[in-house]
Amino acid sequence: MFRFNTIKDYQAALLAGEQSCIQTVQFYLHQIEQHKQLNAFLEVFAAEAEARAVELDAELAAGKPMGKLHGVVVGIKDVICYKGHIVSAASKIIENYTAVYSATAIEKLLGEGAIIIGRQNCDEFAMGSSNENSAFGSVKNAIDPTRVPGGSSGGSAVGVQANLCMISLGSDTGGSVRQPADFCGVVGLKPSYGRISRYGLIAYASSFDQIGIFSHTVQDAALVLEVIAGADNFDSTVSQKEVPFYSTEIEALPIPKKVAYFKETLSHPGLDPEIKLQTETYLESLKAKGFTVEAIDFSLLNYLVPTYYVLTTAEASSNLSRFDGIKFGHRTNGPIDDLADLYKKSRTEGFGEEVQRRILLGTFVLSAGYFDAYFTKAQQVRQKLVDLTNNLFVNYDILVSPTVPSPAFKLGEHNHSATEMFLADIYTVYANLVGIPAISIPLFKHSNGMPFGLQVMSASGNETGLLSFSKTLMENQ
Ligand code: GLN
Repeated sequence: MFRFNTIKDYQAALLAGEQSCIQTVQFYLHQIEQHKQLNAFLEVFAAEAEARAVELDAELAAGKPMGKLHGVVVGIKDVICYKGHIVSAASKIIENYTAVYSATAIEKLLGEGAIIIGRQNCDEFAMGSSNENSAFGSVKNAIDPTRVPGGSSGGSAVGVQANLCMISLGSDTGGSVRQPADFCGVVGLKPSYGRISRYGLIAYASSFDQIGIFSHTVQDAALVLEVIAGADNFDSTVSQKEVPFYSTEIEALPIPKKVAYFKETLSHPGLDPEIKLQTETYLESLKAKGFTVEAIDFSLLNYLVPTYYVLTTAEASSNLSRFDGIKFGHRTNGPIDDLADLYKKSRTEGFGEEVQRRILLGTFVLSAGYFDAYFTKAQQVRQKLVDLTNNLFVNYDILVSPTVPSPAFKLGEHNHSATEMFLADIYTVYANLVGIPAISIPLFKHSNGMPFGLQVMSASGNETGLLSFSKTLMENQ
């Protein structure tokens, strides 16, 4: 039976004629079918993926050189546009919306021979930490289906976790790639803000959003990043810096050695004692392996989540205003009194509860009377964090923390309390607030049987350092 290890090994098998793309696609289609109850995919592009596999096999047979992602089977979170396919953001409001163009990241994947196998379930408009906010049902964690996979990119994490695809693309606004990667025991990478074009990614909070990558190995994440990163005329916030050859550089360049962690992250009262202990023990062991690991003070930890939620809801309230039943999205069939009533009814019917809550909150913090007290204040905190981060990376290469304060919780466990749910983001939102790259790598196992990860961060633009450090840690477990 087919067993996926790394993209490199898989492509060697393709070249040697031991495996074909069509066999591979059929293997994954079977896997998806067998694991339907996990609810990871909202739609599978079966016939299309098979046709593309046949085409790729023929190209290889005809001697055409393989693209970097030739035959790689990829699932995409349902917030990324793929021309001619529905993109619903797991919301009733655009349940049947067909993308009229493809995201730049998708174009780049296809250009290197990837096969897109389907669109994956997520929290509605990427708002959530458990995937319970999808309009199309929760996703289940494949290790323990009574537990959540994390969110918002839960379907994408489970896609890789349960071997339903080789790679998934998700999006990460405050942890939506790293947190589910942690809960599912896979690698989840959020690059620096602007490293990958956001063109074709349905916006949640534009100054935070970044497409991210789920994989089994750091090497695969590096290769996919190398393909999908880079300048793009359709996104004015994208970095113009040349894209390094991450996949080869991480094998060749020296491994960063100067590691810091924020003292407060490990002494936080919300942190699971076992995660604390295992992380501390692990950091000690790094010292023995020749890394310097230093604790530094960080007094702003408790401001991160509030700052994040003020700013992201403000941006979301603006970004989602286009879904009004007129410009985009579901329009009510009910009787209406006037235009305002049409908006109100359409949006009430179309948006789920969490999305509505955030639009209301965001509108509130932007309102004239409260703008300075909330929005301006939060912007100031964000700037302070950026300054502090710039200083930190003068002296250190790498910053580490637990990815999430608890392992995957039970379905329904945190549903009653938004603030409890928000706590799941306490360690991840920092990287989005300051725009630095961050990854969760699956190093640990909790006594309850669930995996958990270490979050590794580095200076903006230093994906190479981040990835080579993470690769070394994963190889030396
Ligand atoms: N859990 C966070 C939120 O609900 C992160 C979401 C994300 O990164 N898309 O906002």
